[in-house]
Formats: sequence, structure tokens, C-alpha cells
Amino acid sequence: MIPVTTFKDRQVALFGLGGSGLATALALVAGGARVMAWDDNPDSVAKAADAGIGTGDLRKVDWTAFSAFVLSPGVPLTHPKPHWTVDLAHAAGVEIIGDVELFVRERRAHAPDCPFIAITGTNGKSTTTALIAHILKSSGRDTQLGGNIGTAVLTLDPPSPDRFYVVECSSYQIDLAPTLDPSAGILLNLTPDHLDRHGSMDHYAAIKERLVAGSDTAIVGVDDIYTEAIADRAALAGRRVIRIARHRPLGEGLFADGTRIMRAEGGLATVLADLDGIATLRGNHNAQNAAAAIAACLSVGVSEGDILAGLSSFPGLKHRMQPVGRKGNVVFVNDSKATNADAAAPALSSYDRIYWIAGGLPKEGGITTLAPFFPKIAKAYLIGEAAPAFAATLREAVPFEISGTLERAVAHAAADAAKDEAAQSAVMLSPACASFDQYKNFEVRGDAFVGHVAAIDGVTMLI
Ligand code: ADP
Repeated sequence: MIPVTTFKDRQVALFGLGGSGLATALALVAGGARVMAWDDNPDSVAKAADAGIGTGDLRKVDWTAFSAFVLSPGVPLTHPKPHWTVDLAHAAGVEIIGDVELFVRERRAHAPDCPFIAITGTNGKSTTTALIAHILKSSGRDTQLGGNIGTAVLTLDPPSPDRFYVVECSSYQIDLAPTLDPSAGILLNLTPDHLDRHGSMDHYAAIKERLVAGSDTAIVGVDDIYTEAIADRAALAGRRVIRIARHRPLGEGLFADGTRIMRAEGGLATVLADLDGIATLRGNHNAQNAAAAIAACLSVGVSEGDILAGLSSFPGLKHRMQPVGRKGNVVFVNDSKATNADAAAPALSSYDRIYWIAGGLPKEGGITTLAPFFPKIAKAYLIGEAAPAFAATLREAVPFEISGTLERAVAHAAADAAKDEAAQSAVMLSPACASFDQYKNFEVRGDAFVGHVAAIDGVTMLI
């Protein structure tokens, strides 16, 4: 745990005790702050009280006594409208911050030069974060991995000069971190997302921009118009900017050329790495993630040799285009995280002959946007509530069956793929749907897929 010493002996209000909230409250208490925590859920309040945290209804207290208000990133700061605690904090002139801000203040106080890589973007955050941490760890560095990826940042080990931090930041966390100042900050890409919570694309982009605007080295994917302008502004402001491109060559920066990651300097490009054969980094989207990871690792002093070794041993993240088994020429791929059509697109684009398991709880728009990939689909196996609607979209274009359950879909797809004479084919769960009609969440669905794959006669598991 990182005790938060910057609020020692001062009063701090905290709202939101689910997720990272409780860990944050404990870190504040450990550093000597006097915390008053609250949540709408009485069970969470009781749990915090049991853990020794001071609790109290923040509607009924004098806010001018607080030095800061720590808000959970899941609670609305601005949109659709500010939470009532936010209004009270504003009225009393109390600053509103989150756990990432507490972390950066601790780092500045105790080990301001320790390498700190922060990662954001609409897509690819977790993959890039995990990849960087893997490269650092496998090169023997003391590596702390946390943030939005699942480990609350204040549960990591305390800052010390030789410790490396790799922190995934959601836009909500950035919004609550006014002095975010990583050694290297990555902004991968920006496409419309969570606009209900950010009001407009401009506001969403402005929040994400703050992460790179405060970085010593700003690493920016320049394939979107928003991010391209952000890179230009960071350069104008005097930041060291490394541009990343996945769709076009650059004169300066890192770009993808097929599976190769090129480094361009003064218009001259050389090969930095080749992702060919790295099953966990397939696809052009992963070239963007890998290029950003390489740039970040170089910027904190990792050698090219250590980077190449780390790339090729990257185990990948569960449920994201994860190769889980193999039988003959058939690879079994778990992409359960693809809960809408946009998220399924990278997986479908990354294999040439696909036995596609799709369906679940349908999202608006269905799978019509995936039509460009239909020629690669040998057959589709439809499950869950979306099956009839997906069947209507596929009719004529793609052979399909309504399998109903995932178990039947895996068995039928494996049997069909086994007869395929293509050099390689994939049986892939990339459902383009939420899981809630048949499973608790996408993780449970992905684990069920892995279980059904493991039951296939003669399969070699890769995990
Ligand atoms: P995030 O943490 O931002 O949600 P993940 O790394 O968990 O991103 O990847 C989630 C899904 O997003 C992947 O399964 C893939 O379909 C897609 N994806 C990953 N990286 C990118 C990228 N750089 N650009 C676009 N889509 C991506």
C-alpha cells in the first residue's frame, strides 16, 4: 500500500466506497489523514467502518473543514449532471481529486524521478499497459502495474527511485487528477465513447489531452484527427513528442508497416521490431499498442534487446483475442471482451478463415458494420438472444447455424474447422454482444469458452 502522507493530520471527505474507494480511504488513513467516507450503499459504508475508516453522511457536515474531497471515478463529476457531493464541494471551495492524483502527489513528495508511465486512449489501454509492464518486468525491473486495469493504484508499493509504475488511466481518473505528470504519457487513440459521462467529444478529448500535456515525453497515436491535433499542441508547448501511426508511414516517430514496427528519424525509416508470429499481438490495432509500448520503454531506458524479448514472450490479456488452444491447423481464440460490433472488428480482421461464435445480449446496430469481414467467415455459430437478428443479417452472405448454447457452438465449430484444409483457421468467440442473457459477465463467458475448448479431444491448450 502507498500511505498518502500529503494529507497528514488534515480532514478529507471521500465518496464512493466500491472498487478503488475503500483502498484509497485506507491509504489516506495509513498516511495520517482524518477521513470521513460515505456511499449511497449502506453495506459499503458498514464495510468501511469495520475496516477502521471514519464514516459520516456528507449531506450533514460542514464542508469548509475539509482540505480535499476524494471522489470515486465511477461517480459523475460533470455529466449528465454533477453528483450532489460535487455541488457541496464546489460551494465550500474544496478541491475535488481522485486516487491517481493522490498517487502523483506521493510520487512527487518521495521519489519524483522514479519512472512513471501513464496510458490512456479509447481502445487498447489494458493491452498496452500490460505489455509495458511485461517488458519492464521481464527485463528485471521492479514494476508496479495498476490503475484502471484493475489494481487500485494506492495498493501498489510506495514510490522509490528504482521502482517503475505503469498506470492505466480512464478519462474519469484523468478528470480527477489535475497535476498528472508522468515521465511518459501515452494517448493511443480517440473515438466517441462514454459521451453520456463527458457531454461532448470535445470535452472527452480535452480530458484525455491533459494526460499527455503533463508528460515529460508525450507518446501520441496520430491516426485520429483529435489526437493528431493534440500531438501538435504538445509539441508547440515544448513537450518531447513521439508520434505513433498504424495506418500510414511517418517521417518522424514510430509506425506500423504490416507486422513491422518502423522507427523514422529525419525521414529515414528502420525496422525496430517485427510482430510476425507473436500470437498475442496480432492485428494492426496491436501494432499501435506495441509501437506505443516500445516508445514508452525506450523513453525510460529499456534496451532494444530487452524490448524485443518482452514483445515475443507477451502472454496477452485474458478474453482479448487470446489464443487458448490449438488442434492441427485450428487455433481457438477467446475474444469474449468484444461486447459490441466495433470491439469484434479487430479480431475478425486479424484472421483469414474464421469459424465465428457470436451472439448474446444484442446491442443497438447489431452486426451490420461487420459486413466487410463476412467473406472471411467460413461459418457462424449463433448463440443467445441475438441469434435470430444476427441470422437475418448474415442470411445469403455467410453460412450459419443457430447453435443456441456456447457448448454446442464450440463443439460444432471445432468439428467443422477440423475438416477445413486451409493452412490455418480460427474457431473464435468474438460475440459482438453483452453476455448477460447467458452469463454473469464477459469473463465468465470467456472462461466457459476455454472450458469447452479444453474438453475437445486432442486439443493442446496454450494457457
Ligand atoms: P481497453 O482497456 O481500452 O478497453 P483493451 O486492451 O482491453 O482496451 O482491448 C479491448 C478490445 O479493444 C480488444 O479486444 C480489441 O478488440 C480492441 N482494441 C485493442 N487495442 C486497440 C487499438 N489500439 N485500437 C482499436 N481497438 C483496439
